[in-house]
Amino acid sequence: MKVQTRVLTVDPLNPQAEVIAEAAKVIRSGGLVAFPTETVYGLGANAYDPQAATRIFLAKGRPSDNPLIVHIADKEQLFEVATEVPEKALEIAEVFWPGPLTIILRKTDKIPPQTTGGLDTVAIRMPAHPVALQLIKESGVPIAAPSANRSGKPSPTTASHVVEDLFGVVELILDGGNVFFGVESTVVDLTKEPPILYRPGPLGPEDLEKYLGRVELPDVARGMVFAEKAMAPGMKYRHYAPEKKLLVVEKRSELDNVVRLLANRMDVALLASKETINALKGIPKCNIELGSSSDLYEIAKNLFGAFRALDKSECQVGVMEPFPERGIGLAIMNRARKASGMAIIKKVEDVWKYVQ
Ligand code: AMP
Ligand code: MG
Repeated sequence: MKVQTRVLTVDPLNPQAEVIAEAAKVIRSGGLVAFPTETVYGLGANAYDPQAATRIFLAKGRPSDNPLIVHIADKEQLFEVATEVPEKALEIAEVFWPGPLTIILRKTDKIPPQTTGGLDTVAIRMPAHPVALQLIKESGVPIAAPSANRSGKPSPTTASHVVEDLFGVVELILDGGNVFFGVESTVVDLTKEPPILYRPGPLGPEDLEKYLGRVELPDVARGMVFAEKAMAPGMKYRHYAPEKKLLVVEKRSELDNVVRLLANRMDVALLASKETINALKGIPKCNIELGSSSDLYEIAKNLFGAFRALDKSECQVGVMEPFPERGIGLAIMNRARKASGMAIIKKVEDVWKYVQ
């Protein structure tokens, strides 16, 4: 379906009431609105409306069994969408909401199966972004929203990424500038004991364990393997991938050798901190800077944009530097490994498995 797309600029911290009112009108009439959140841009529709939810899947080209996250604006809405809410859910909601934490609970009948990919559980989050919160409030319904990219592409961290992917298929794109974190929310399943961390995000397992006790971290959540059978829906799908080949070096000590070896044969793009780029100046043909190595939040914020920049660059293959897997660093490495299609380089010779 071809639709007319409008792009409206919105103040991210003090969203204009008339812009929010326009967007809420689209949501209430069953349309699609892309909007900024603190994690990445979301593609929103009324979570109670099965047709609107179905349109999200069509717009993204998303497999229909990959469930959506339902966004709420206040604690009371939690009980409209979830049932059998355990004490620990209320406890971590109190600590982390609004914020980049998605919790999985049993769904109520108000949430149609189209929204949850046919599951009887629902993923819920209260975003910490004024535009997102006010849009949900003004719409009067919870908003189902996956990332606002075409399925398989890197998640959008600016409105221009959304325009690249979804112009002509959504009614409205709210341009609120850059997101705050740049990686998608942490997803934890509280219907399991111990709870399972399906996707690391701005919050790592160590942040949740303070409140939940032991949290299970499957290998798929670190991005070390593809799930054979989906542990959680969504995990079996290829994600975040640039079109060009990306290699993720796992050991920092191997990075120089990998870049030198490949640079002899082809045009290499180095995706790395500014310190590393300075240290290897003149060796790779393209440099895609992720920020300062001392600030993992900055690296995370620039990550998906860097994947898109790799595709636009004149280089054939990207090589990414590893970052420490603590805090948001675990999410950085999870996204990078998945984006590489598991082209994980532990020692220099491994490169020949992925490039000729
Ligand atoms: P996205 O909104 O594109 O970031 O994707 C949302 C992700 O949340 C999905 O890919 C799933 O991995 C996860 N998710 C959403 N709902 C559920 C659910 N009910 N059970 C398990 N995982 C879920
Ligand atoms: Mg996504």
